[in-house]
Amino acid sequence: MVTETALDEVDSGEKRAPLDLRRAGRVVYQRFCDFIAPPHCLVCRMMIGESGSLCSSCWNALRFIEGPCCPRLGIPFPYDPGPGQVSAAALADPPPWHQARSAVAYDDAAKPIVHALKYRDRHESASLMTRLMSRAGAQILAEADLVIPVPLHPLRLWRRRFNQAALIAQRLCVNRPEAFQPLVLRRMRSTRPQVGLDHEARRKNVRGAFVVEERNRIRIAGRRIVLVDDVMTTGATASACTLALQKAGAASIDILTFALVLEPRRLHI
Ligand SMILES: [Zn+2]
Repeated sequence: MVTETALDEVDSGEKRAPLDLRRAGRVVYQRFCDFIAPPHCLVCRMMIGESGSLCSSCWNALRFIEGPCCPRLGIPFPYDPGPGQVSAAALADPPPWHQARSAVAYDDAAKPIVHALKYRDRHESASLMTRLMSRAGAQILAEADLVIPVPLHPLRLWRRRFNQAALIAQRLCVNRPEAFQPLVLRRMRSTRPQVGLDHEARRKNVRGAFVVEERNRIRIAGRRIVLVDDVMTTGATASACTLALQKAGAASIDILTFALVLEPRRLHI
C-alpha cells in the first residue's frame, strides 16, 4: 500500500535530512494526538492501533476492485477477458473519458468512509481513501500531467468549508504538488444534489454546469488529466467535467474515484 510516508521516501540525497525531520515531527505529533484521543476505526469506532484506518472487520468488508476490470468504466470483470477488452456497458454507451479506475465498490462498507469525510469532517478519512486510490490509479496517475478535483459550487463550498475531492486530489499529488490544479475547472451553476436522481435526471442536472475559463485554457490544452472524485454513480458528473476539459483542449481525461456504484451497470463483458 502506498502511504504518504512511503512517497516521501522516494526523495533522497540533500532533501533527505529536512524530510526526516519533518517526518519525525509528524510521528511525535501523531503519538501525542493518539495519547490524547486514541485512534478509532473510521467506520465502527472500535479502538485500533493506527489513526485514519479501519479495524480488520471493516477492512475485510470492503470490496476492492483489484482484478481485471473494464478500462473505460472501471467495473470489475468476473473473469479476465484478455488485454484491451471493454465491457458491454462501455460499448453500448461509450463514456467521453479515456479510462476510469476506482478503489472499491460503493456499498454499505464503503459508504461510511465517504460520509465520514463529507458530512462529519473526518479528514483522516481522506488519507485512507487517498492511499487506496494511489494503488488503484497508479498507472493513470503516473501518466498524468495534471490532477483536477471535481469542483463544488462556491456556495456549497462555503457551506461545507472544504471540497472533499480537492482534499483527496491534493494528497494524491503529495510528491508533485505542481500537478494539483483545483482552480482551473469551475462549477458555474449550483446544481441540486444528485442523490435520488436517475441517470437521465443526473445528466440534465449537471449539463453545462462546469467550465474552464478562457484564461485557464492554456493550462489545460494538450495535457493529460486525471479527474478526481469521491464516488462515481452513473458518471453524469464525470461526463460533464470531461466535456468541459475536452472543450478546453485537454489531450486525454481519465477518472479516478474512491468508490464506484456497480449496480447501475452489469458485471459482464
Ligand atoms: Zn471497524
